[in-house]
Amino acid sequence: MTLTLAEALRRVETRCAPATASKLVPLAQAQARILADDIVAPISVPASDNSAVDGYGFRHGDLEIAKDQGLLVVGVSAAGRPSVRDVAAGEAIRIFTGAIPPPGVDTIAMQEDVARSGDHVTVRADIPLHANIRRAREDIAQGSVVMCAGRRIEAIELGVLASLGITKIAVRRKLRVAVLSTGDELVEPGEARGAGAIFDANRPTLVGMLNRLGCEVTDLGILRDDRPRLAETLASAAREHDAILTSAGVSAGDEDHIRSIVDSLGGLDFHSVAIKPGRPIAVGHLAGVPFFGMPGNPVAMAISFLFIVRPALLRLAGAAPKPILRFPVRADFAMTKRAGRREFVRCSLAARGDGLYARKSLRDGAGVLSTLLDADGLLELDEAMTDIQPGEALPFIPFSEFGL
Ligand code: AMP
Ligand code: MG
Repeated sequence: MTLTLAEALRRVETRCAPATASKLVPLAQAQARILADDIVAPISVPASDNSAVDGYGFRHGDLEIAKDQGLLVVGVSAAGRPSVRDVAAGEAIRIFTGAIPPPGVDTIAMQEDVARSGDHVTVRADIPLHANIRRAREDIAQGSVVMCAGRRIEAIELGVLASLGITKIAVRRKLRVAVLSTGDELVEPGEARGAGAIFDANRPTLVGMLNRLGCEVTDLGILRDDRPRLAETLASAAREHDAILTSAGVSAGDEDHIRSIVDSLGGLDFHSVAIKPGRPIAVGHLAGVPFFGMPGNPVAMAISFLFIVRPALLRLAGAAPKPILRFPVRADFAMTKRAGRREFVRCSLAARGDGLYARKSLRDGAGVLSTLLDADGLLELDEAMTDIQPGEALPFIPFSEFGL
């Protein structure tokens, strides 16, 4: 039975719970890792009020005097070197960005708005109460949840964690993923290529995508279409990995052994999804370990990975996947398609007067991998669509949404 992509995803997601334990790592080793626990702010940021500008601090009640005869400058408060002296009525303090306003100061005039003469400063503008003071806690309040478990740690997260004084965080152990290619025709780049042989393009693509996801990859190489040997390799891989990925051999041909092996070693959940490219796929488990047998054609393999396997692996890795964003762009072509399946059209984008236009790759076979070189992403045509008109606005997924 052929599933819609939405149904396939629903099944995969309900079956893939986080499979990895957590461990503490220093921030310097946390990039690209998945946060295992919520982060609760141990302090407030900023911890105290501080000046947003270089200028002069005073009591707002003194504004008229400050504009008229001026205020006496009684000291300096600098970032990291706060003044301890109170500021009384009729007084001001020289203050710099990041410095804590001393007691008595409730308003800061930036230096562009004052005139300094000797030890007096005159304010030349109407400054509202609390002007130019960054309030304590305005960034983060102590005790609040700053990040939730499942978030991927990247540069922004590292900065926010550091601002909280955090030195170590609990992250998920990396997901151990085994990858292999199947096919009698496959050879490794660098090996002699006999008649009818092709170089294995799928494994490098997959390994690259898995590295991007932060997985720990075991590359099991190329396996021949030899059922006993394949079954033995897969059974042993299932003992040491959190997920197993293969490409090719998932259709119903005589040399396609994957489906029956999955059936006998665990269970096949589904084997056909109504997407193009990429319909045949074998999703199930080997002795309880999630298994994803992707199609052999390289573009079909890539699309199956991005839309079905990737979200499953993110869940297994303990990540809370961000929804893939679709951006409306206009089709620069006409096209008809069959109702009932979801199609992903490789497109490059070009900006024109009234917006972005998607130009379709000239070749669109499931095997022509090089078409992905010029594409910026995928135009998504849903199951109901049959007729695409030039100028029609359609959802476009840039490859950057997948971190590619
Ligand atoms: P299959 O799913 O085994 O019928 O393979 C479908 C098509 O994909 C065939 O033309 C295969 O030669 C091709 N193919 C399978 N595996 C790979 C691979 N690792 N790299 C490039 N092409 C492949
Ligand atoms: Mg084959």
